[in-house]
Amino acid sequence: MQKPHVKLFIPGPTEVAPEVFEAMSAPMIGHRQKVYSDLHKKIKDKLKTVLYAPNHMMFLSASSATGLMEGFLRNCTAKRNLSCICGAFSLRWHEIAIGNGKEADTLNFDWGKPYDNKEIDKALATGKYDTITTVYNETSTGVKNDLEELSQIMKKYPNVIWGVDAVSGMMGAKIETEKLGIDFLVASVQKCFALPPGLAIAAISKRAMERAKTIPVRGFYFDFLDYEKYDVKDQTPATPAVSLLNGLNFQLDRIIAEGLDNRFKRHHDMAERVRDWAEKYFELYPARSASSETVTCIKNTRGFNISDMNKKLAERYIHISNGYGDLKEKTFRIAHMGELTMKDINEVLSIMEEIWGLNKSEKASCCGSCGGH
Ligand SMILES: *Cc1c(COP(=O)(O)O)cnc(C)c1O
Repeated sequence: MQKPHVKLFIPGPTEVAPEVFEAMSAPMIGHRQKVYSDLHKKIKDKLKTVLYAPNHMMFLSASSATGLMEGFLRNCTAKRNLSCICGAFSLRWHEIAIGNGKEADTLNFDWGKPYDNKEIDKALATGKYDTITTVYNETSTGVKNDLEELSQIMKKYPNVIWGVDAVSGMMGAKIETEKLGIDFLVASVQKCFALPPGLAIAAISKRAMERAKTIPVRGFYFDFLDYEKYDVKDQTPATPAVSLLNGLNFQLDRIIAEGLDNRFKRHHDMAERVRDWAEKYFELYPARSASSETVTCIKNTRGFNISDMNKKLAERYIHISNGYGDLKEKTFRIAHMGELTMKDINEVLSIMEEIWGLNKSEKASCCGSCGGH
């Protein structure tokens, strides 16, 4: 049993199951031993299943996802990158491109709205770009983008390598990587995988690897050709995060035992519950149809103080997320990722109702301060 601890309803890190921590406490092994390669191979095979990518290569990196995102831009952009931005995390792609001296443009969409894929089509039709970087689940605004629709557009541009930041969506919603034609799908494990931070995962297409072969300066830690060389031996170029990989191997078994569709439905049902709640007492920040499956961003229409709320929630061993950046006091976010269940969600929502007196004011439907006539 885990001791009472502050339960996280934030978009990462997320709750880790005690049995996962236990799996991580296995003795160390040498990462050039066969026993390591066996572990690496098992994880790769399971990832190919859960990421719907039997023919992609799997990268396991002792870094957070941002590291592999940097690797993608270095290894796959020869000409010019286009970053499609609808919030703080999608902006990061562009910052990485610039930070690595790549030619790069942005295509900006209003925060709180998903991409307008027709605009992306127009931008790619200029022929200026050889990589495009997008986000699946924009964690700062609680928006999910329509990857299916975008994938139809991407089919018209076989020379544009497509990167998707799926950090806060992978294992919380279905992303059929190969069918969609995604070249690079990346995530960290401290979100819907429900592991401690320190490990990143990416699925990469053959097409993207072919591109890397044409790029002379690919960096060192994230040199994808080096990754490929070691992948053949079921190893990584530098020392892997062995404990986290033990945890991941175990967690993938749990994920597969739950059933992918069951897992995605659990996330969807929790999202629907929080959306209903948000619409009852507040407003959703994005349109409901574009609202994320893993984190709900709620407009703070009642002007409550979110930091005060978190202080009160801490006494009940609960922590939620305030808005991101400029949205700090204007919104708050409730994540429903990883290990969380409907029971947890019902609990956090009813405690918030109690602390903010929402039930009372709603029943009275008057000033809200009289406690109900
Ligand atoms: C959390 C998050 C990141 C950052 O991931 P790191 O693990 O810190 O590298 C990037 N993109 C999105 C959408 C995220 O939610």
